Amino acid sequence: MSDLIKTLCPYCGVGCGLEVSPPAQANRETNRDSKGNPVWKVRGDRAHPSSQGMVCVKGATVTESISKDRLMYPMMRDSLDEPFRRASWDEALNAIASRIKTVRDTSGADAICLYGSGQFLTEDYYLAQKLFKGILGTNNFDTNSRLCMSSATAGYYYSLGSDGPPCCYEDLELTDCAFIIGSNAAECHPIIFNRLRKHHKQNKNVKMIVVDPRRTTTAEAADLHLAIRPGTDIDLLNGIGYLLLRWNRLNIEFIDECTTGFPSYTEVIQHYPPEVVSERCGISIHDLITAAKAWAESKRVLSMWTMGLNQSSEGTAKVCSLINLHLMTGQIGFPGSGPFSLTGQPNAMGGREVGGLAHLLPGYRLVKNEQHRTEVEQFWGLQPGQISPVPGRSAWEIITGLEIGEVEFLWIAATNPAVSMPDLERTKAALKTSPFTVYQDAYYPTETAEFAHVLLPAAQWGEKTGTMTNSERVVTLCPAFRPPVGQARADWEIFAEVGRRLGFAEQFAFTSSAEVYAEFVQLTRDRVCEQTGISHARLAAQGPIQWPEPDKKELQSLPKAVKRLYTNFRFSTPDGRARFVAHHSRGLAEPPDPDYPFVLTTGRLYGHWHTQTRTGRIEKICQMHPNPFIEIHPRDATKLGIQENDLLEVRSRRGTSRFPAKVTKTISPGTVFVPIHWGFLWADKAEANALTHPVSCPQSLQPELKACAVQLVPVPTQ
Ligand code: SF4
Repeated sequence: MSDLIKTLCPYCGVGCGLEVSPPAQANRETNRDSKGNPVWKVRGDRAHPSSQGMVCVKGATVTESISKDRLMYPMMRDSLDEPFRRASWDEALNAIASRIKTVRDTSGADAICLYGSGQFLTEDYYLAQKLFKGILGTNNFDTNSRLCMSSATAGYYYSLGSDGPPCCYEDLELTDCAFIIGSNAAECHPIIFNRLRKHHKQNKNVKMIVVDPRRTTTAEAADLHLAIRPGTDIDLLNGIGYLLLRWNRLNIEFIDECTTGFPSYTEVIQHYPPEVVSERCGISIHDLITAAKAWAESKRVLSMWTMGLNQSSEGTAKVCSLINLHLMTGQIGFPGSGPFSLTGQPNAMGGREVGGLAHLLPGYRLVKNEQHRTEVEQFWGLQPGQISPVPGRSAWEIITGLEIGEVEFLWIAATNPAVSMPDLERTKAALKTSPFTVYQDAYYPTETAEFAHVLLPAAQWGEKTGTMTNSERVVTLCPAFRPPVGQARADWEIFAEVGRRLGFAEQFAFTSSAEVYAEFVQLTRDRVCEQTGISHARLAAQGPIQWPEPDKKELQSLPKAVKRLYTNFRFSTPDGRARFVAHHSRGLAEPPDPDYPFVLTTGRLYGHWHTQTRTGRIEKICQMHPNPFIEIHPRDATKLGIQENDLLEVRSRRGTSRFPAKVTKTISPGTVFVPIHWGFLWADKAEANALTHPVSCPQSLQPELKACAVQLVPVPTQ
């Protein structure tokens, strides 16, 4: 093995290339953590097409966490009241296989659930998928992408006929108007944002508009910041559509030849004149017109979004409303333009390709589609009808299934729902009722481990080989560069081993993750996300490859011309036309009222990642963000009689948390902000999701984690 290993950052969906070198190559005296352990050296990979050598604090420090607080061997217990005891792999795997058989025989396959993660490698996802949706015959395999990207996925399906961001990172440097809505990209996707910010600074004609209730670091860099009221995104987007229609700034040829549904859309947006939108959104008519003019006058508009649109009870409608603007102006399918969803997790894109949500099958197929099911059944050698036509339980439906006793076997892998789910008291109570929970993770302790009967040690990044796809559809091979700690095993190996113990040796006869990937890509043939031309060997030899990449030699030898989807303006719908999908705004599922007069909005910080399972073990990041806090506007702070660092109790209809106040004008009066990263392991009673609610988008089933109504009560000093 070479001393310099090229791989991918395991944090966010930007997917930055990294070069890792072993401690023997680093300065052994200075390159040690506080406990004296040698730390692997890491730097950005200049040759990686997506990040070009750049890396943020998370990527730069990732190797510091790989040896700390690791789960070393399987552990088991009969009830949550007991301490864990060490178990062998054989004992743990036999117990799992036996329990699955019992539950399936007595209560049916739909009593079994797997809740996985965008941290999975594509190969992990694929075997989990094959085991649950294929062999076991239940679609109850959902992932934490449900909390993150499922509205983007659904929006693309409704509007364009298929999932798949049509844009690429090169568009950041080719656009003349970046429209960023519901995304603090400067902190959450910093390397992408660096590329955009450089382009914006160097080109005076390039506009940057940011829509966000907070004045974030991203908003600070914009030409125009629209600080809309939480939950009024559709009002704004329809209001921009109204003005474009009124000014006749439409691409009529594109609308006529490439879309359907425009007349219905115009009927809806007629209800969004500037005075109405200004009032609802809490922005000036002047700013609204400035934003609409940017869409009207720009030749290449690139929109970007993340949780601000997705984590909403009308998330799919928000995404479709944004795509409508691209369709009415024809801003899609050519360089510098298009609707670009930024994925949250490192392999959330790969998960979507493999079908890692409870309504999906591999290759952007749908569980509900009979032809799709038949194609997968035939490929997997299943009986006709073996794949259920019923979408499985979404993330939150797994919790409600536990509550009513319909979920009898729960397997959680590489995610931490005891911090990341909404309505945490209810979530934890449901987890406590689970008759049998397997928790498979690299780290111990974690909050979710408290609710498990079996703990399985998972190999983590750098200890297993596989692929990840980033936000611009670039597939990168992530090779193992060190052996797993203790008895940890790769997730895909664990799923395969359980499949074999259930009696399906032939279907799980894989000896390497390269074989797993080779099988998966055959299911992408002739699909939007085709990867039949990609293999581990080719990725190792040539570096990252962007899909679509068919296995046709004549196409592979051509210079890569298709960096974008829909360049021929034919979409993935049956008639090849994109659809205008018009929605009226419904607003927040839980608006403020006299009892709960503030809107709480939640978000992420630059250094921390999700529930801190990894970043909470990195000194530099903990020093950067030592404590949770609540942002509150000075006017509200004065009304409550509180000052900087005073403790505020935040109460919602579901729970209570406490945070020191950060008094700042970056948040609007009437709104407060709390970061999501602190679970009960890291801080006392400072969980953002103790407050949030689970009301979800009816199409995407993504909960509205972004906003809820709260009351604020100052805590007297002792
Ligand atoms: Fe890793 Fe994302 Fe930072 Fe890149 S931007 S180094 S992928 S966390």
